[in-house]
Amino acid sequence: MESYRSLITNQREFFRTNQTKEIAFRLNALKKLRSAVKLYEKDFITALNDDLNKSEFEAYSTEIGIILEELRFTISKLRSWVKPERVKTPITHIGSTSYVYSEPYGTTLIISPWNYPFQLAAAPLIGAISAGNCAIIKPSELTPQTSQVFAKMIQEIFPENYITVIQGGAETSQALLQEEFGKIFFTGSVPVGKTVMEAAAQHLTPVTLELGGKSPCIIHEDANLKLAAKRIAWGKFTNAGQTCIAPDYLYIHKRVKDHFLALLREAIQEMYEGHSMTRIVNEKHFDRLTSFMEQGDIFLGGKSNREMLSIEPTVLTSVTWDDRIMADEIFGPILPVLEYTALDDLIVGIRNHPNPLALYLFTSSTRIQNELLESISFGGGCINDTIYHFANPHLPFGGVGTSGIGAYHGKSSFDVFSHKKSVLKQTTLFDIPFRYPHVKNALSKIKLFL
Ligand code: NAD
Repeated sequence: MESYRSLITNQREFFRTNQTKEIAFRLNALKKLRSAVKLYEKDFITALNDDLNKSEFEAYSTEIGIILEELRFTISKLRSWVKPERVKTPITHIGSTSYVYSEPYGTTLIISPWNYPFQLAAAPLIGAISAGNCAIIKPSELTPQTSQVFAKMIQEIFPENYITVIQGGAETSQALLQEEFGKIFFTGSVPVGKTVMEAAAQHLTPVTLELGGKSPCIIHEDANLKLAAKRIAWGKFTNAGQTCIAPDYLYIHKRVKDHFLALLREAIQEMYEGHSMTRIVNEKHFDRLTSFMEQGDIFLGGKSNREMLSIEPTVLTSVTWDDRIMADEIFGPILPVLEYTALDDLIVGIRNHPNPLALYLFTSSTRIQNELLESISFGGGCINDTIYHFANPHLPFGGVGTSGIGAYHGKSSFDVFSHKKSVLKQTTLFDIPFRYPHVKNALSKIKLFL
C-alpha cells in the first residue's frame, strides 16, 4: 500500500506557516478556483460526457453552474464568516467578554463519489479553502476522465503542499485513511461511510459523512397532480436517477393513483423522449438495476441496452415493501410505486426503515405537511417539489441516522471545516472573590450569586 505520509507532513508544515488562514489568501484561492473552473468548463463538459454521457445541459446545470454559484456566494460572504463571533456573557461573569473563533482543522481529506464527479469533489473543497485548510481530494475512479481534468486543474492552480488531488480506487482511499487528518469529509455509500468512520476513529478525527438511502416521494390526494408529475419526472430521471436525493419510490394515495400515473407518463414522455439520457456508470450497476425489472408490473419504460449502459425511465407498479427493489437505495432510472389510504400506515412504512436522506411531499394541506414533518426524521427535502432544497445555500444539506452525519453548502460548508474555538476574555481591573474557597461564607455567597 502506498504511503502518503510525506505529502501530508508537507501539507501540515505549510499549514503551520499560517498563510492559509489569511483572509486575502483564502479569497485569492477561491477566485483562482473560479477562474480555473471557467477556463476548464469545456473540458469538464467533454469529460462528463465521456464518463457518463451527460448532456451539456445537465453538466452545466447540475455540476459546473452549481459550483460557480457556490463560489460566488462564498466569496461574497467570507469576510463576515471569518470574524470571531461575539456571544453573550452571563452576569456571573461580569467584566468579561466571550467569542467564538472559527479555526481551520489543518489538513483535510475529501473523498468523493462518481455520480456528480465534479460537483461533489469541488463543493467540499470550497468549504475547506474558505475555512483556511489544506486539502487532499480523492475523486472517484469510476469517472476517470472527469477526475483527470479535476486533478490537472488543481495541479495548475495550487501547490501540492496546499491542495492536491490523489487519483485511485478503494485501495488509495484506504492508504490515505491510514494517515492522520484534521478532518475527513466523505460522500458515498453507507457501507464505505462506516469504513471511513472506523478509520477516522483511530485518530479521533471528526468526520462529515454525506451518504444515501431510500428517499420517499409522497403524493397525497389533494396535491396539484399535474405539477407534481412534472417535478417528479425531472427529479427522478435527471442523471438517470443516479442522484443521492432523487425520489427513490413513490407513495401515492390510492384515490389518485391512476390519474397521477397517467400524468406522470405524459410528463416523462414529454421531457425525455428523443433526448439522450445520462448512462448507468458501469455494468455492475446496470445488471443490478435491470434485475429489479423482474419485480412488480412495468407501467412505463422497461427497455435497456447493456452495450450502451442505458435504461429507459421506468415506472413499476404492484410493488410492496417485501420486494427486493425496496430493500436498498435504487440509484437508477427505475421508480417503484406503493399506494396508501391511511396516512398512519404510510408513516409506519417509512419509519420502519432507515432515516431517508430526502423526503418529498406533494399536498396542499398545511395540516398534513406539519403532521409528516413532525413524525418522520429525514435529512432534508421539499414540500411540493423535488431536489430543489439542494441548491439553496441557506439550507444546510446532509443526512440523519444512516443517511449521514453533518451538513454543508453555503455557510455550513465553512462551518463543517472549522473548529469552533470558544474564548472568554476576562478583565484584570477587578476580581469577584466568591469562587475562591477561602473567602468567608464562600458557599452561601456563591449560592446567592449563581
Ligand atoms: P462509494 O461509497 O462506492 O465510493 C465513494 C468513494 O469512496 C470513492 O471515491 C471510492 O473510491 C471510495 N471507496 C470505495 N470503496 C472504498 C473502501 N472500501 N474504502 C475506502 N474508500 C472507498 O460510493 P459511489 O458508488 O461512488 O456513490 C454512490 C453512493 O453515494 C450512493 O449511495 C449515494 O447515495 C451516495 N451519495 C451521497 C451523496 C450525498 O450528498 N449525501 C451524494 C452523492 C452520492
